[in-house]
Amino acid sequence: MNVRSNTDIKSLIRSIPDYPKPGIIFRDVTTLFANARGLRATIDELIWPFIGEQIDYVAGIEARGFILGGAVARELGVGFVPIRKKGKLPWKTIGKEYQLEYGVDTVEIHADAVGRGDRILLVDDLIATGGTATAAIELLQESGGEVVAAAFVVDLPFLKGADRIAARGLKVHTLVAFEGE
Ligand code: AMP
Repeated sequence: MNVRSNTDIKSLIRSIPDYPKPGIIFRDVTTLFANARGLRATIDELIWPFIGEQIDYVAGIEARGFILGGAVARELGVGFVPIRKKGKLPWKTIGKEYQLEYGVDTVEIHADAVGRGDRILLVDDLIATGGTATAAIELLQESGGEVVAAAFVVDLPFLKGADRIAARGLKVHTLVAFEGE
């Protein structure tokens, strides 16, 4: 039970074994987002460490990070910056390749999305190995931004992604943890 909201966020997340491939348990947050109390509790829980902190932008990672990031930005009273998959943004972009289990992927932001010294909170639904979040952080830093913290609904601690992000000097905030693949 999440104490501040009195809602059991973890039980509202659907676990789907062997998706997208055998051995992976997919943690499906659409069931959490569809639940009115669950969605409200999730946003309340995500924002509380950052109330009163100096944050200039929330950056969200496509696609579930957009749903959360928009709501978090609205609550914190700051703007939202999308981090998208390659080829989706219409203006000048900068990109970062990162390693997947098989192959590579690229995340992009608009080159003028953040200014020098802007303080950024990164948001996504889940941190696993931390590869996606690390690419997003490096992208924001290359744009001149200062990524001060990262917030995720789900942590998979055995994959040590949250540790990787914390080792870069960011504050890492997660709401629920699942052990086991
Ligand atoms: P990673 O880069 O390994 O930290 O993976 C994080 C990204 O992949 C996030 O955008 C997640 O939405 C997605 N992801 C990775 N593993 C899972 C999982 N077991 N269930 C749901 N989404 C996942």
